[in-house]
Parts: sequence; structure tokens; C-alpha cells
Amino acid sequence: MRFDLITIFPEFFAGPLDHGILRRARETGLVEVNVQDLREFTKDRHRTVDDRPFGGGEGMVLKPEPLFEAVEALLGYSVGDAQQPKAPEAKTAVLLMSAAGRVFNQETARRYARLERMILICGRYEGVDERVAEHLATEEISIGDFVLSGGELPAVLITDAVTRLLPGALGNEASSQNESFSANESMKSSPPFAGAQRLFPGGREKAGPRQASPLGAFDPRRNELGGAKHALLDFPHYTRPAEYRGWSVPEILIGGNHAEVANWRRAAALEKTHRNRPDLLSRE
Ligand code: SAH
Repeated sequence: MRFDLITIFPEFFAGPLDHGILRRARETGLVEVNVQDLREFTKDRHRTVDDRPFGGGEGMVLKPEPLFEAVEALLGYSVGDAQQPKAPEAKTAVLLMSAAGRVFNQETARRYARLERMILICGRYEGVDERVAEHLATEEISIGDFVLSGGELPAVLITDAVTRLLPGALGNEASSQNESFSANESMKSSPPFAGAQRLFPGGREKAGPRQASPLGAFDPRRNELGGAKHALLDFPHYTRPAEYRGWSVPEILIGGNHAEVANWRRAAALEKTHRNRPDLLSRE
């Protein structure tokens, strides 16, 4: 998969792409990540990328011309004009990073992982001329309900989330199927989770009244992969020491009974999802 990140701050990316899974994926040629300096696609002497907003108001807006030129140079063809628009090829996504976009999540990442090519446009200042969202980008994407000062961090975040889903990116391939937000296979034939309240005896009581019936809203039958209604958070992980400052690792995990461990993990994932992200369980 090829990523092109279009930015006015190319130096920003020295570092975030150079560690761990992303680094290895680049070194082995699984992904190619190119950083494109937007100013290279300007035509004036001052290499202008921004201008004042029509209608007045604060701040500057990224101009359409350099962005259209940059994306078209990368695509190798024109996206046309108002008379004859041309959509990019199906295996290519042109993403505009935008707080006003649709919110990115693991499902979005899985969809992108099937593409061959992604071009990510990083905004700055007040944002980007709306014609880029309407006629150049295939999607306008937000990484969450908050406003950052630029699209560079969102672009890194998306590049990371997508890369680690590519076959071969993780050392152990199974590990991306068994993590948070994946409707994981082990959920399929699991019995109802009667014991989630008893998972953490003595703890977790401080949460509000919703906790009184932690599984009330949850119907395990709807969690089958066929319908893939619910994706849970990951189960809690522990490592040595078995006891630290008086806090001990749940007994079952030390016992080595695989079936019991699997049951505990299922129930713990469900309990944690209920506690931290009840919205995931009530979603249809
Ligand atoms: N005026 C805009 C914010 C501009 S912030 C608004 O109120 O929506 C400058 C740039 O940062 C944006 O163009 C976008 O590329 C990036 N950005 C800020 N927050 C973002 C978010 N939550 N997700 C993705 N990109 C974001």
C-alpha cells in the first residue's frame, strides 16, 4: 500500500513513522510512505499556500490550487472540473483531514486496509477551501470530536491504524483479530456471561448506578460474528510479577486452564466495555 501525506510541514513526520510496526512495514516494503511538501506544488515566487477567507473573519485558509495540483501529480491524472468531473480510481482514497469530517474508527481502518493507495491531505490554519472537500477528496475524515491545529497528527494516526491491519504487518497475525473494536471470533459461541460482576471482587464499586446491572442491556446472542453487532474492547492483560504492591493478578490467569482463561477474558472484555464504552453495547 502506498501512502502520500500532503503537508506544509514535511519535517513533522520525521520520527512518528520511524518506530515499531510502521518502521518494519516500511523497511520490508509492505507500505511506502511519502511525505509531500505542499509548497512544491505552488507556482508563484512566494510559494503561497494560503489566503484570507472570503466573507471575512479570522485566520487563513489553504488555497485550492496547490492541493489540486499536488493530488493530480500524485494520481497521474486530472480530477477534471465542474463541467467534467472525474472520480479517482476505486482502489485509491483521497482523504481530507478535517474536524468537520466523518469520524474515523476501526471499521474505517479495516475498509482502508483493502485499498492500494491513500493520499492524505493535512489542513492547517482555519482549514481548507471547501472545494477540496467537495471535488478533490473522496472522503472528509475526523479523528475525533476535538480540534487540533493541523492534520499531520491525524494523518499519522490513520497511517498507523491502517498499516497494522495489513497482512504481515504484525509479527503475530492473530493479534489484530483479537483486539479492541474487532468482533472477535472467540465471542461467537460463548455462553451467556453470568459472572462478569464477580470478576473483580471488591473493586470497581465506585461507578454510578448503571453498574447495578452491568449486563442488563446486553444480549450475548447478538454478538455473533454473522451479525457482527458488537465489537468489544480488548480484555485486560497482565504480566509478572503476580503480585505487585498487594495487587494480584486474577487467579484464573495463573492457573493455566485454557478454557477458564478464555471464559475469564470474554467476561472481562465485556465488563470493561460496559464500564468504559457502554455505547458499544447499545449500538444497533
Ligand atoms: N476551523 C476548523 C478547524 C481547523 S484546524 C474547524 O473548526 O473545524 C486545522 C486543521 O487541522 C484542519 O484543516 C484539519 O486538517 C486538522 N484537524 C483539526 N482537528 C482535526 C480532527 N479532529 N480530525 C482531523 N483533522 C483535524
